[in-house]
Amino acid sequence: MPDTLKEIILNEIKSHGAMNLGAFTSMALCHPEHGYYMNGDPFGAEGDFTTAPEISQMFGEVIGAWVIDVWMQMGQPSSVNLIECGPGRGTLMLDILRAGKSVDGFVAAVQIHFVEASEGLRQKQAETLKGYNVSWHGDISDITGDIPCIILGNEFLDALPIEQLKRGEKGWQKRMVAVNDVQEFMFTWADAEKELTQCLPSKTVSHKRYEVAPVRNQFISSCVDLLNASGGVALFIDYGYTTSHYGDTLQAVKKHEYVDVLKGIGACDITSHIDFDALSRHARGQGVHVEPIAVQGAFLTKLGIKHRLLALKNTAFKTKSLDDATVLIKTMEQSLDRLVDNAQMGDLFKVMCFHNGDDLKPAGF
Ligand code: SAH
Repeated sequence: MPDTLKEIILNEIKSHGAMNLGAFTSMALCHPEHGYYMNGDPFGAEGDFTTAPEISQMFGEVIGAWVIDVWMQMGQPSSVNLIECGPGRGTLMLDILRAGKSVDGFVAAVQIHFVEASEGLRQKQAETLKGYNVSWHGDISDITGDIPCIILGNEFLDALPIEQLKRGEKGWQKRMVAVNDVQEFMFTWADAEKELTQCLPSKTVSHKRYEVAPVRNQFISSCVDLLNASGGVALFIDYGYTTSHYGDTLQAVKKHEYVDVLKGIGACDITSHIDFDALSRHARGQGVHVEPIAVQGAFLTKLGIKHRLLALKNTAFKTKSLDDATVLIKTMEQSLDRLVDNAQMGDLFKVMCFHNGDDLKPAGF
């Protein structure tokens, strides 16, 4: 009988002591055999959570318009790396390429790269992108920067682990995962190493809990290295906040419900909100230009998502019966609301963009 993921982590903790929160969540999500993302397709109404590209094709189409615009501003290079990190089912890329078909030279210029940990999702992405040439990578640092790059990621950063810190009587402590008497996981605290506390915003004196994300910083550094080597731009969309503050945003989701982070290991998604303030500071410190963080609703609206809806409505009236068109249009309107409405995804989701080209003026900010 093969070990379950729970047994593997329990054994690891028994042999080596309590585990950093980041190491625990990394194993839960990306253990090569039993990690959550290795178990197949978690997306959509039937799955555990629904992402923007899965809500509506309009999302990917206007992101496609954004990509085409930056490609044009870059001087329409005849070869460009279009890199998507954590592409899920591959839906966003497919919608971008469909939008790009109407633009001379764009699809021919694009070299598609996916950064994807899950073998099962790689297969799904290959099916979605059938007919296109795609290269897969385990890590963004595996991509060489010999041609300009456009780097994208929707709901990717939230899957990269965080650590949680609090100030104790004797200094900073980090949150760990240990094992209790009945062989269940439990949280504990241990002294935090200096490297972790260096990620904190300055003047942090409260005894509340703070989140830091060295792995996200490291990932951003790898993106910056790529842009510095070859020029280009990066765009990341995710849930999070724009002013660093204390708080606990660690969450686990299964079948669209919040569940206990320490239970059902490998069977639920574990994520946390992005501190875009900290990530922007980190990226600026690496020497790239970071646009002011935008909210998703305003960003998509500036890119013309409402005009896209109008165009799709016209097509529906022309190609479908009145009844079918009416039903379809209602669904499209609801999807658009979900993406841009401030009470839904419009305000919670933020857009981060950085680049090293002085002449580049990415749309939407
Ligand atoms: N962008 C998609 C999917 C988001 S879910 C969408 O919007 O629908 C997160 C994606 O990131 C999945 O494809 C998952 O397998 C991948 N992923 C998570 N952690 C990863 C890591 N450390 N390295 C590479 N891919 C990872």
